[in-house]
Amino acid sequence: MNVLWLQTSGCGGCTMSVLCADAPNFFDLLDNAGVRILWHPALSVESGEEVIALLERIVRGDVPLDVLCVEGAIARGPRGTGRYQMLSGTGRSMFDWALELAPLAQHVVAVGSCAAFGGVSSAGGNPSDAAGLQYEGSHAGGILPPEFRGRAGLPVVNVAGCPTHPDWVTETLMLLASDALGPTDLDALARPRFYAEHLVHHGCPKNEFYEYKASATRLCEIGCMMEHLGCVGTQAVGDCNIRPWNGSGSCTRAGYPCISCTAPEFEEPKHAFTETPKVAGIPVGLPSDMPKAWFMALASLSKAATPERLSKNAVADRVEILPSPRKPRG
Ligand code: SF4
Ligand code: SF4
Repeated sequence: MNVLWLQTSGCGGCTMSVLCADAPNFFDLLDNAGVRILWHPALSVESGEEVIALLERIVRGDVPLDVLCVEGAIARGPRGTGRYQMLSGTGRSMFDWALELAPLAQHVVAVGSCAAFGGVSSAGGNPSDAAGLQYEGSHAGGILPPEFRGRAGLPVVNVAGCPTHPDWVTETLMLLASDALGPTDLDALARPRFYAEHLVHHGCPKNEFYEYKASATRLCEIGCMMEHLGCVGTQAVGDCNIRPWNGSGSCTRAGYPCISCTAPEFEEPKHAFTETPKVAGIPVGLPSDMPKAWFMALASLSKAATPERLSKNAVADRVEILPSPRKPRG
């Protein structure tokens, strides 16, 4: 399976993330799955004329393009020319190249939230008029229309995340290489369901604190970060706490709130990432699939029943009260 990887308006962090794939690592995976990287701007030795010649061979149809991976949003400015980001030596913008190459590929994969939805690259007033491949924020239609399909019939596969999880990329490529990713394997935003049907909250080690609404008030504390510190792990898709990053880590495990980086428009929440917006003291971003009144009733009940171990540990920077051993029988 031939893969061409383009880097457009992004930070390169998704490539850095992919290089942290550990089981299997990125290069072993490629070998084992029969994946051939035609070119990657950071990992390949080819540059200049060699790359231009490769692109021309792909355009002529001399080299089949199985997967076009795009990392980064597409800058459409100024005034729709895309000339804010040129592919050096070609006289053409990345916008132009993406539009030419996408219809030639069996599959188009958006690597990271910039390529999927615009992401961080479209924030702050979006001066470069950046968009995702098939979405602009949460609206269908990016540089490609909503009805676009790769030659094999799938929409752009949005491996969203900022950065995206290394295994999400490698698993997507492996599934595509074995023809095992179909339309029903994608969610409503075309993210692979193998990670998008989980919530970041699933498997978070702070779950016990969450159950009792035993909340941290500062980032250094070990309680749940939903009530005061902006964590939206109960609404954010991702198996980050089931399949930890690099085998052991996740944002919430490291003591930082989930900011839902797999979702469109996460980059501008309209409040500080580490603050929970509230109305009359009640967090506004409650779990979306639970009636607010029920949540509040359950929360006040569980707060009333919080064991001292959890209420004290929640606002400490390490476990201060250990679980009590069972009393010996008899
Ligand atoms: S999605 Fe995030 S990590 Fe990936 S290129 Fe964009 S800003 Fe960088
Ligand atoms: S910190 Fe976030 S992800 Fe973890 S239990 Fe609390 S709400 Fe869930």
